[in-house]
Amino acid sequence: MNVIFLGPPGAGKGTQAKIISQTLGLRYLGTGDLLRSLVAQADPKALEASSFMERGELVPDRLMVEIVSNQLKDLKNGYILDGFPRTLKQAEILEDMLAQLGTKIDCVVYFDLSDSEAECRLLNRYQCKTCGNIYNKDFGICPQCGGELERREDDDPQTIKRRLEVYHTQTTPLLDFYSKRGILKRVDAQGKIEEITERIIQALKDDQDKK
Ligand code: AMP
Repeated sequence: MNVIFLGPPGAGKGTQAKIISQTLGLRYLGTGDLLRSLVAQADPKALEASSFMERGELVPDRLMVEIVSNQLKDLKNGYILDGFPRTLKQAEILEDMLAQLGTKIDCVVYFDLSDSEAECRLLNRYQCKTCGNIYNKDFGICPQCGGELERREDDDPQTIKRRLEVYHTQTTPLLDFYSKRGILKRVDAQGKIEEITERIIQALKDDQDKK
C-alpha cells in the first residue's frame, strides 16, 4: 500500500507517519526530515533549498524534484510519503514517475486541522536533536533517548504564519486533485496521538476493504 499524508504544518503528519509506518511495516519518506538531514551534511542542493525553508516558503519544484527523485525511484511498494507532494506540479510529476515504474498511490490521508490549532501546536513543538522525535514544551529532555530538545528554526510565529499561508495557496489544491481520483480520505487530526493513529489505521483498512 502506497500512501501520502497531506495536511497543514503542525497537523502531526510526521509523528503519525513514523508510528504507522512501523505498525504496518511500511517505509517512510519525510521530505522535511530529508532536507534537514541533507542540510546538516552540507549537501549543495539542500543548502540551496535551506533559504526557502528558513523563510517558510516551499522549495521550488525543480530543485525539490532533483533532491527527492532518487529516493522516490528507489521506493519499493509499501510506503508513506510525508510532505511530498506539496504542489500540483509535484503531484503530476509523482504520478508520471510512478506510472513509468508501473505503480501508483493507493490512498491520500488528509489531516484535517484548524489553523489556530496547527499554529498552537507549532508554537509548542520541540524536537530532539539526537533522534528527531517531537514533543511539547513540557518535556525537559527527550524521554526516548535523553537527547537535548530544541525548537525548529521555522517554528517562530512569523514563519509559522507564512507556512500556513503557503499551505493554503499551494498545497490545498491537492485535495481536489486526489479527491477526483477517488483516493482521498479525510481524518480528523484533532485529539490525542493514539486516537488519531487509530483513525488513520481504520481509514486505511476501510480503503483496502473497499478494493
Ligand atoms: P516539513 O518538515 O514537512 O514541515 O518541511 C519543512 C520545510 O521543508 C517546508 O516548509 C519547505 O520549505 C520544505 N519542504 C519540505 N517538503 C517540501 C516539498 N515537497 N516541496 C517544497 N518544499 C518542501
